[in-house]
Amino acid sequence: MNDSKLWLLPGQLDSHADRTAGLDWLAAQWAGPKARMVAVAPDSGIEWSAGLPLLSRVDQPYDPDSCFYLGRLPDGPVFARMLPQAQGEVRELLDDIPSGDIQIVFAAAALVNWHSQAGFCPVCGNATKVEPPGWSRSCPVCPRELFPRTDPAVIVAIRDRDNRLLLGRQPVWPPRRMSVFAGFVEAGESLEQAVHREVAEEVGIKLESVCYFGSQPWPFPRSLMLGFTARARTTQQQIDGEEIEYARWFSKAEFTQAVAAGELLLPNAHSIARRMINGWLGDTLPL
Ligand SMILES: [Zn+2]
Repeated sequence: MNDSKLWLLPGQLDSHADRTAGLDWLAAQWAGPKARMVAVAPDSGIEWSAGLPLLSRVDQPYDPDSCFYLGRLPDGPVFARMLPQAQGEVRELLDDIPSGDIQIVFAAAALVNWHSQAGFCPVCGNATKVEPPGWSRSCPVCPRELFPRTDPAVIVAIRDRDNRLLLGRQPVWPPRRMSVFAGFVEAGESLEQAVHREVAEEVGIKLESVCYFGSQPWPFPRSLMLGFTARARTTQQQIDGEEIEYARWFSKAEFTQAVAAGELLLPNAHSIARRMINGWLGDTLPL
């Protein structure tokens, strides 16, 4: 499955029927011959090397505090196992992870990142505990059930009237990397308002025809990227110099030439940014 379809179709992991299952059932799933797991550490570490299967056989005892049931693939149950630390980092390995495994590793990273930071109740401060199968925690004092959090962030592909695409560069990125524009949604703000504000702040450009494109999780540590397309009402840039240090309008010919010459490095193959850039290049971006 390619990434352009992955996040539009029903999820691969079938888990809803199993979410209320008890510990005995979970332990039996874990101990079954078809059980597999992905080992992930907080801060999106992963115990995996390119070329090996992402999911490995289960060979440890079942511990509900660190083994979270992700769901069921056609060939068996899948768990995320939380490690204290891991050698690799999911984001750095993304280009090597097969498309078919991306949803699983994103779910595992999102869940483990959240558990690692949700040890205490945000209301009363008491220690929380994992509720099997691992998709919530509870505070025994309040009592309150806590669920994984997601931070909404907008990302926008901006084109001008000549169908040029605006790409910008953050100072923290590797040399020559450029991408479309993104930022977190602020409190009390709509997604569209966040798009207008971020672009105005970062490159000083006014937008029109802001239109929803699609979404995908980005659990590093816990974002949901909400993609938009927009037309530039003005093309004169005013770079903020902090979040964005450089921006440039690309025609398709200029873009293709810059990529071929190695002057322009694109965002990760599994990112929504890349999907939007590919859509512009292939004339499949709406609007
Ligand atoms: Zn509490």
